[in-house]
Amino acid sequence: MLVGVPGGGESTSTTSTDAAPDVPPTADVRVVLDAIAATLPLPDRGRALLAGPVRGALAAGWQPGVLGAHLVDRVTTITTTTEALMRYRLRVLPETPAVCPCAACRRHVAAAEAAVRQDADRRARDRAAEHHQAAVVDAEAVAARHDALDADLGPVLHGRIVQAALAARPILRSRQLSAARIRTLAASVYTDHGHDSAAIRAYAEGLPPAPSETTTATQTAPDATDSTSPTRPIRMAPSGRLWPR
Ligand SMILES: [Zn+2]
Repeated sequence: MLVGVPGGGESTSTTSTDAAPDVPPTADVRVVLDAIAATLPLPDRGRALLAGPVRGALAAGWQPGVLGAHLVDRVTTITTTTEALMRYRLRVLPETPAVCPCAACRRHVAAAEAAVRQDADRRARDRAAEHHQAAVVDAEAVAARHDALDADLGPVLHGRIVQAALAARPILRSRQLSAARIRTLAASVYTDHGHDSAAIRAYAEGLPPAPSETTTATQTAPDATDSTSPTRPIRMAPSGRLWPR
């Protein structure tokens, strides 16, 4: 069998020096033939015989790696030549990997589906990020509008609105009145009045004075020195009342 050629007859690693009369295998055909040869004995004559049908299967849309895996899937013992078995398998090839139940094709279909799912997940995350960004922009716009209304009303009328909102929600009176809670209380009033500055002002002017307007001198809060607060005599609210009625 040995012909004394260096490299011993392994002609597939060199380019198109196949002794076979068939057209030299393309790189894709070679991938399939190499996959077969990795599992089964495949002499050059076998490679030449199989190149045509393999090329046909590739032309029908099979990917070389999937086709190679499909062709040698669950081959244990062969009672005939590799070429005969492969030619048979190439004849009864399913139309696409999607309809073949063999492990190699199922793996390929699963991988393809996973790629599609990952792509869909990525696009869903992108959309969610866009929505989140839009919501952040909206929230910033609302906050800016509320800041403008706060400044427009001034601390006295703003204080009345907060006190009235607190009075309407007794449960909040026992809780810490954080800056965020004050913002929320004022925001609900602003929303109720359609963010109409004049309407909010008219509403606030009709509210009873807030305690801070009558106890200015005893307040230690940073805003206690507000110059727009009326400088009335100190008049503490009756006990149990937020402000005198
Ligand atoms: Zn298959």
